[in-house]
Amino acid sequence: MWSALLPMLLLCFSAVLYWLAPIFPQNPMPMDLLLPVGWCAAYTLLATPVLAVAARLLKGRGRWLWLLALPAFGFAGYTFGKDRLPQKAASHGKTTPALCRLQFLGMDGLDHAQLQAMGSELPNFQRLYAEAAWGSLKTVSRHSPEIWTSVVTGMKPKDHGVSGYTTSWLTGTALELPDDSRDWLGQFVYANTKFRTRGAVGSNARRVRALWELAGDYDRSSIFVNWWASYPAEPVAGIIISNHAIPWYGFTPELLDHAEPMATWPAAEATSVRAVADQVVAELGAGKLRRDVQTEEGSRYFLVRDQISWATGRRLWREKNPDLLAVYVQGADTASHAWTFTVFGKEHPDKQERQVGEEEAKVLFERLVHSAYRAMDQRLGEAMAEGDCILLVSDHGWRYDGTMHNTKPDGVFFAWGPPFATGEIKTASILDLLPTLLHTLGMPIAKPLPGKVIKDAFKADYQKLTKEISSFGPRGDRVSVHPTSDDAEHIEALRALGYVE
Ligand SMILES: [Zn+2]
Repeated sequence: MWSALLPMLLLCFSAVLYWLAPIFPQNPMPMDLLLPVGWCAAYTLLATPVLAVAARLLKGRGRWLWLLALPAFGFAGYTFGKDRLPQKAASHGKTTPALCRLQFLGMDGLDHAQLQAMGSELPNFQRLYAEAAWGSLKTVSRHSPEIWTSVVTGMKPKDHGVSGYTTSWLTGTALELPDDSRDWLGQFVYANTKFRTRGAVGSNARRVRALWELAGDYDRSSIFVNWWASYPAEPVAGIIISNHAIPWYGFTPELLDHAEPMATWPAAEATSVRAVADQVVAELGAGKLRRDVQTEEGSRYFLVRDQISWATGRRLWREKNPDLLAVYVQGADTASHAWTFTVFGKEHPDKQERQVGEEEAKVLFERLVHSAYRAMDQRLGEAMAEGDCILLVSDHGWRYDGTMHNTKPDGVFFAWGPPFATGEIKTASILDLLPTLLHTLGMPIAKPLPGKVIKDAFKADYQKLTKEISSFGPRGDRVSVHPTSDDAEHIEALRALGYVE
């Protein structure tokens, strides 16, 4: 009996250590200990009969086998756990001057085929094709928070820790629970008890340092607006207008009042975001628009939301003169979702059977997708008029045949400005963006990053790399948020996108 329990207990012990490694400094004991311990106990109970039978069959020999297994457990624990342990603080290496003040524009779902098909309807993108270094980007996931976090960390989703669209907390605490989607016991317990509170995945799930932290490390002033998984906003040496600071629930005065704590850093920025939101909503007469990614109205909703992010970014670019402004907008993606849902049906877009006639689909395509692309082109024009250096990327492309971005089509990459080359370059990866951003900002690159500077995007004079450093150091302290109830609205919206089951 004991020979069977012992390895299970060892496994439990390793699991507890594995869980505690990243969360220990941020979470109050002992509540945080209870859950992993309870989990282990449940699994041990379940596995005991099986192991007891196995031990009986093995008889005396079993003991020696377990003894042999011990070093294997130790090695496995070390291998899986070592990356989760806090790393030594970074020694900030030498920096070189930034190549330029950079506007980094994230436009979700933008696709080269569509940009080129619209041609002269998109004069600013035409300028980019003529004047910028441009190419395609291999993506790393189908899920926006995962990809956009890879963009600012340079790490694959499994390494940066932001996974899917939602996360959950042990009810009443700030303890974020490990991903339960592949854990059948976890699913069952969560579904049948009130232990879990669900909400949108946020910055606390991230395990590694993000660009908004790195910029401060090297005295580059940065501003991030509406970035996925940037809530709660971390106290950085810069400004974060998190994705929860841009109205998500609706534009009526009551819904605009739905302010979440720590949605911006510094907190006072929330007031100016609200002022911009009031102005945009009044100008566009958007007060009553309903958010629904499956409909035309919902598509307009997201364009208004984008405009609030965009106008906030413009204001901060002019007023604060940052070295880096990063703004994320999603209208091209949400419009394309709405078109696909309408044309191919809400339930099974993968079936690729049209629900509406060819002509109707074309008219709708013009109203939804074309107008979203034109909005992106107009924004690009404003950015080009107010700065001389732009990196513009999308997280994935789009297929208008009902498969959306399920097949992970390539995203777009444009680098425009004095240090950048002109013409098409070879396909790069989402993981190459952080090294490329760091290089543009004159910051060192850490050796463990899997991506590389997209060298052929730069003119020859600007290709010399600064020295690599060994590590960026651990991510900063997490900002504690204690959700008290499920963020049902948020999850419902993600479900409508087909992102959450
Ligand atoms: Zn996307």
